[in-house]
Amino acid sequence: MAMNLAPHVLIIGGSDSSGGAGIIRDVETVAAFGLKSCVAITAVTAQTHDRAISVETVDATLVATQVRTAFQANTVAAIKIGMLANAEIVSQVANVLAEHPDIPVVVDPVLASSSCKQLLDDEGTTILLEKLLPLSALITPNLPELAALTGFPTIDRAANRLLEMGARAVLVKGGHASGHNSTDTLFTPHNPPITFSAKRQPHEMRGTGCTLASAIAAGLAGDQSLESAIERAKAYLCEIMHQAADPCRTAKKS
Ligand code: PLP
Repeated sequence: MAMNLAPHVLIIGGSDSSGGAGIIRDVETVAAFGLKSCVAITAVTAQTHDRAISVETVDATLVATQVRTAFQANTVAAIKIGMLANAEIVSQVANVLAEHPDIPVVVDPVLASSSCKQLLDDEGTTILLEKLLPLSALITPNLPELAALTGFPTIDRAANRLLEMGARAVLVKGGHASGHNSTDTLFTPHNPPITFSAKRQPHEMRGTGCTLASAIAAGLAGDQSLESAIERAKAYLCEIMHQAADPCRTAKKS
């Protein structure tokens, strides 16, 4: 059978049995933007919404083969990376992606679950910075991830450090900050930072990082500019957080 020519977002990450985060969230998000997904699964995790019970990592060679075959089967227009589990997987994924330098890569640096289970080992974090960061169009750390990746406590210094290390753009998510608004800040080389603000949602939801990064990747796959993709992704995230707070809202509207 011929290659599927419809634009796909290739999602590289882990599954979450609860459906709260990971690949399921990614595929749902990409579909909401009218695009198809193909996947390379890096780990199978058993989680509730409060606890990560167990994690089984996929062999790194099999992850790389999934990435290669996804490219062979489909037209990959953008790539979203989430949980990578360990250094060997990061390294093999980076090797394959280096063969496709023109496809935009959005990296959500998933280091741990909100229940504090480590989802990338320490060496994996080092390799991510060395090998994957320079291949990325955008990295989307939240505040704890930004501090863990760089060791710098201030946002500006930390984001600029990631740019110096080869990132083309850094979106620092403000979800862990406080205040009336949740503000994300986009840092790119030689430009003033750009902020994206929305009213802070009063309740928490899992998988927000996965959703935002996948929505941005979907926008880039549709040839949107980075700023426009971020703006639309943030609007989409706000909408689904509203729906999660009031699940009847969609039904009431129709
Ligand atoms: N589990 C998997 C497989 C993930 O990919 C992620 C985030 O990307 C998480 C858990 C973390 O999500 P949360 O912070 O909502 O627990």
